[in-house]
Parts: sequence; C-alpha cells; structure tokens
Amino acid sequence: MDLSYILNELGEDRDAYFQAIAPPIVQTSNFAFTTVEAMRQRFQDEMGGYIYSRGLNPTVDILRKKLAALDGAEDALVFNNGAAATFAGVLANVKQGDHIISVDHPYSWTRHLFDRILPRFGVTTTYVDGKDPAKVEAAIRPNTTFIYLESPTSWYLELQDLRAISELARPRGIITLIDNTYATGLYQRPIELGIDIVMQTATKYISGHSDTLGGVLTGTEDMMRRIFLSEYMCVGSGIQPFNAWLLLRGLRTLPARLERIQRTTDTIWKYLRQHPKVESVIYPFDPAYPQYALAKQQMGAAPGLLSFYVTHRRAEEIEAFCDGLKHFKMAVSWGGHESLLIPKLATMPREAFDAENRDHRMIRIYVGLEDADYLIRDLERL
Ligand SMILES: *Cc1c(COP(=O)(O)O)cnc(C)c1O
Repeated sequence: MDLSYILNELGEDRDAYFQAIAPPIVQTSNFAFTTVEAMRQRFQDEMGGYIYSRGLNPTVDILRKKLAALDGAEDALVFNNGAAATFAGVLANVKQGDHIISVDHPYSWTRHLFDRILPRFGVTTTYVDGKDPAKVEAAIRPNTTFIYLESPTSWYLELQDLRAISELARPRGIITLIDNTYATGLYQRPIELGIDIVMQTATKYISGHSDTLGGVLTGTEDMMRRIFLSEYMCVGSGIQPFNAWLLLRGLRTLPARLERIQRTTDTIWKYLRQHPKVESVIYPFDPAYPQYALAKQQMGAAPGLLSFYVTHRRAEEIEAFCDGLKHFKMAVSWGGHESLLIPKLATMPREAFDAENRDHRMIRIYVGLEDADYLIRDLERL
C-alpha cells in the first residue's frame, strides 16, 4: 500500500461527511440504536461497531486503520498515551507465575510496571543486555512468556536484533513486544521481522507538535481483539476523539517532518563529534557505532535523538551551558517541532555528580524542525 494513500485516503469516508478534507471529531459518548435487534447484536460483539466511546469511536477508527497499515499490521488500538498502551500490551499477555525478559534501560514507567506493579501479582522480570541475542536466549526459563524490547533504547540508543530475538521467541510461544517510538513505522517494521506487538508513543512523532499524548499497539486482529475486549475496555485508557484528530493531523506530515529531522540530526551529529568539549556522541548511524551494521540493516534512518558526553569536569559548567540555552528547550518528551535537551545531571542531586562517571556528563538532545545553523549557535557555547 502506498504511504501517500495511507496518509491521505485510507479509512476516510468523505462521502459520509460533506467531502470535508479534515475528518469530523465525533465528540460523543454514546451511539443510539433504532431497533432492539440492532442493540442486541451490538451487545454480542462490542468490537463490531459503535456503542459507547470507551470502546470504538469513528474518529479514532480512521486513525486505527492508518496506524495498522503503517506498521504492516492487521489491526491497531489507540490509547490515551504510550504508557497505557504498554500497560495493556503487557498485562494482556502475562498471568501469575509468568516470567518476563526485558532489555536493560527500558522506558522509566515500563520499568516501574515490571519492578513495582507486576511482582504484586507474581510476575517477575529479568533484565538483559539486549545487544546480544545469546544473552536473551540464556535468560529464557520454562515460565518465560513475554519479551519486552525497545530498539533503540532512549539515552543509550542500544539496538536489539529483532529477527534473531523473534526467532528465539516464536517457536517457544513467547510473545514479543517492541517499543518502536524512536524509529516509527516509517523507519522500522518489526512485524515483518517476526515481532508480535508493536507499541508506539504517538505523543512523539505522530503528534509532532507537542500538543497531545497518545499511544498505539499494532498486531494481529486476534491479539488486538483480545486486548480490546479486556484491558482496553476495562482500564478505559482509549484515546479521546479530539486527541485522535490531532494525531490524524500529525500523520499527514510525518514523512516530511522525519526526513527533515533526519537531515538536521546528521548535521548536528557531524558538528558535535568534532567539538573539542565533546568526548563522544552516541548515534546509531555513525559508521563507528558498534551496532552500525545492525542499524543500517534494521532501520531506514535514525532521526531526532542523540546523546553525547561532554568533557567538562565540573557540574556547574554543564549547568551554565544548559541554563544559557536560547534555542533548545530544556524539557522531557520529544518528537515535536521544537528541539530539546536533557542533561543527565538534572536526574540526580548536584552533590552526587562525579566527573569520573561518564554517564553523569551525558546530555541527550532531540533535534526538531529548526534550521541546523540556528541550533548549532546554541551548541557553540558548550
Ligand atoms: C515518551 C515515551 C513513552 C511514554 O509515552 P507517554 O505518551 O508519555 O505515556 C514510552 N516509551 C518511550 C520510548 C517514550 O519516549
């Protein structure tokens, strides 16, 4: 299916709404039936049509069709944020006594789910260095039912070989889920590599404008139906129609934004790697990156995020640089129009800063839609 068709036509029934180019926001909680028989039938299959907007909603459905097609999946569910999508995707696939394998350094609230919530129900998690499929295999136990991946991870941008890990999991009946927020369905297609469920934080690139949150799961129709009729309906974390509409708007320009972000990221990487105050840069498309070959093979591009280590020996120097930023905003999240920066130092008390620990001298940036020169003027002050 053409990408242009997916983004401009798929799922849109303009005959039903005055040939409007932008779809309507169907801002309703419930849907009426004209006969008892129609109502009875809907009660028997809540995923077969509209009844109540905690379940399906027409605006959200347009988005579901496009997101499924973007991932090459049979179906998609859209949540109110990425954390909700992960929560539902994991919870639907584990039961008491099960064991999960997760990559090191998962997204912080995913880690909270594994460390704080699931152990209360007898589900345990082992963290492994996902760079090496042999380490994933060695961690598999008889009760392992779920593998959580994030490729690349935030901050460290570590990759996993998705095909190799899916080949370990599939024959053993282990479900795999990947957080694909970094690369998006445009630049990485995990389902084609054998991964079962793809999660994406729509808050980031799909929205693209820092004005809404959203989360996506894609996978088989069976898997999506199972999650919909249980966790999705029960937790009530489906996206609201207006937020879904914002994501539809974001999708229209996704390829154009990512292309530009990719080019600017490349320019910024080249600038940083020759900067005298930068010790090294973590960027998967750097030919010297240890996982460069896998990155090239598995990902179409590496847009937006990169981390680097500065040579400064004092916390005050790093803070002075960050406090003086004119163009990068100091903020969490990413994927919007605006470039962002987080120093690792902000995640710890200043007294804990230890220049010998390289991680303390780490800075993560997100490159947005501004001109590279404009951003580099900020980085010149390093
Ligand atoms: C932001 C983010 C999440 C969480 O998404 P929310 O929409 O904030 O809930 C999960 N994973 C990754 C990699 C993220 O960057």
